[in-house]
Amino acid sequence: MQIRLPESVKPLMGRLEAAGFEVFCVGGCVRDSLLGRKPDDWDLTTSALPQQMETVFAGWRVLATGRRHGTITVVSDSQPVEITTFRVDGGYRDGRHPEQVTFTPHLADDLARRDFTVNALAYSPHTGIVDRFDGVGDLRRRVIRAVGNPCLRFEEDALRIVRALRFASVLGFPIDPATAEALRSHRQLLEKVSAERLFTELCKLVCGETADTVIQQFPEVIALLIDHFSPDGMRLHPLPALPGIRLAMLMHAFSPAQADAVLLRLKADRAARRTVTALLSRRDQPLPSSRAGIRQLVSELGVQPLRDLLAFQGALGRETGPACHWLERILADGDCWNLGMLAVDGHDLLSAGIPAGRELGETLRFLLMQVVKGRLPNQKSELLRAATANGTRGAP
Ligand code: ATP
Ligand code: MG
Repeated sequence: MQIRLPESVKPLMGRLEAAGFEVFCVGGCVRDSLLGRKPDDWDLTTSALPQQMETVFAGWRVLATGRRHGTITVVSDSQPVEITTFRVDGGYRDGRHPEQVTFTPHLADDLARRDFTVNALAYSPHTGIVDRFDGVGDLRRRVIRAVGNPCLRFEEDALRIVRALRFASVLGFPIDPATAEALRSHRQLLEKVSAERLFTELCKLVCGETADTVIQQFPEVIALLIDHFSPDGMRLHPLPALPGIRLAMLMHAFSPAQADAVLLRLKADRAARRTVTALLSRRDQPLPSSRAGIRQLVSELGVQPLRDLLAFQGALGRETGPACHWLERILADGDCWNLGMLAVDGHDLLSAGIPAGRELGETLRFLLMQVVKGRLPNQKSELLRAATANGTRGAP
């Protein structure tokens, strides 16, 4: 079995091998290649110690961010590639024990520390696939199974509980019964995992193709990340695979403030928080069914947030047909809905005698609203006439 390696990876493997070290592609990139999916990134694992890698890659652009854990990032063909020394995870990542890293000269030890059999695969063009835990068989059977004893693996690092759900959701694989039982019974351990790590995995989980199924199966796990979570009425699959809108659906029954408190605790990024609160605060807002009404709404919200709102309300069972229809017509026909599209700009108004400053901005926004509402045509002469006419400016 041959895997086609990207140009960024080949010279890195070549350099390490020429220096006498073992090196393999490992984890997600091998899994995704075997599944015919495009890997997000390519990770390498090697027998070279960090300082030996630094010698091998002297003169290359090297980022030493993960060096403490044995990882260096080498920029190759403009791509950052992470290379990690074979290691065994010494410590328990449960907050009680300090995290430690022990290097090992054996690939087999490194594969044994990995979370799931489908992620414990390595590959090099010389050896082909290295598969110590029947990961290839599990890929064929389409199942997420912990490497080794699932209880011990979740005790070592409870993040793996959410990762199991994440891979099930993204790959559309069921979770092996013993692994599923262990993750349910160990779910309380999630309370000790850092919010940032949980949030990263949760975002990937909700964006997976079978997120609905997985979350319906394990609501009690999600409830440890999101207080008062209930899967009732949740429909993720009609939504775009973007974290903000999908997180909003997870919390569709929450008030914007409740949802924001959850996101704050999860240390969510600002963009996600903004999207979620914006969608929830308009969850029940009746949508206009006229062209002018939708023009006004797109002018207020912007195209993408309005698209998100329509998708969100639609997934919750609201009638969004006319609103979607008008939005597409407005965009296709180039209706004016923002200042950049208005037939006059600040210079035009200055030339027409309107003084610079606040009044100018207000007049522009007033004209835009008149056009958006269909009260004035988007024509320069008409707009200038309206702008300079007595009593027009600032009128509601
Ligand atoms: P993605 O396509 O999302 O990047 P991935 O499998 O590469 O998926 P990463 O989170 O990038 O996932 O991790 C890379 C590899 O490191 C995994 O495939 C797995 O072998 C190992 N790994 C990552 N996190 C853990 C963990 N918490 N416990 C054990 N192994 C892990
Ligand atoms: Mg990865």
